[in-house]
Amino acid sequence: MKNNPNQPPTAAEVAAYFQGNEHTDYQARMVRECGQRVKTYPFERVVTNPYLLACHHRFCPNCQRRRAQNWGSALRAVIDEESMPASKTDSRLGPHWVAITLPGVPCAASALRNQLGTLIEHLSIASNHPFWRYNIKTALRLLTLEADQLEDQKPRVTPTFTCIANVSRNLFNAQAEGRLAQQVRRDWVQPANPENWPGVESCVIPTATKRDRDILQRKVSRMIETGYPYPDAPTFLNIAEQMRGVKTMVVHRSQRTPFRPSRISQNDDLRYEREYSVSRIGEDLQESLSGNRGLELLPWHLAK
Ligand SMILES: [Zn+2]
Repeated sequence: MKNNPNQPPTAAEVAAYFQGNEHTDYQARMVRECGQRVKTYPFERVVTNPYLLACHHRFCPNCQRRRAQNWGSALRAVIDEESMPASKTDSRLGPHWVAITLPGVPCAASALRNQLGTLIEHLSIASNHPFWRYNIKTALRLLTLEADQLEDQKPRVTPTFTCIANVSRNLFNAQAEGRLAQQVRRDWVQPANPENWPGVESCVIPTATKRDRDILQRKVSRMIETGYPYPDAPTFLNIAEQMRGVKTMVVHRSQRTPFRPSRISQNDDLRYEREYSVSRIGEDLQESLSGNRGLELLPWHLAK
């Protein structure tokens, strides 16, 4: 539907994917009514809680934009804080930020969930490995998806993890000497057929000046906002199904509070997702009305 991958679709375009299928039709309504006080899902009513005006749907472009901006500014706050020298003498040690790009292997949309499981397993093993544990101080991990279709073949999806990490001086030097990507490659997946596979990459992220940080904040925000592909409808719906419950943003080892406030918490959004995809009853219904499995699943319970 969308040919330009850098331009997120409109809410109406996303709603169109979900429309016309009895299993997903309600999601079309949710997305279309995002931001409006009058809702038709799960029945007609007027929402008064401002938090519940938004649909919080994963693929809603308006909600995704809001999420992207929140995460961009949260990362910025962490960088600003970590850049403040504890004393005049240690300013030259500065924070060292690098970006590590970890592409998965192109696969059929129906195999995405399996592959994500494998990739996340690799990330989990690596993050427990002493080498990475000691050398990565803070990291924001983003998952983005791309879809493509080669001639006469079925559409393929490629998941890519990008880690934006504050690393030790040692690792920063390794990057400068071109050794970091080698290290990463050892711990990452290798496709059976590596032809045309982009492979692991790493680069230094400049953060010394305000302009550097503005650029990074915008880039991260943009990556999140445009992180999903919008291919043909069956592939899209398959991807939406496979992504259920998967976190696209994960923070490693940050003790900093900017990443924690509920306004940027994915837990709220994932609760919504469970609601609208499992019970199909969500939003501001009371427990007695929704027949739900308890208040802990209900998103408004967290959203004060
Ligand atoms: Zn929305």
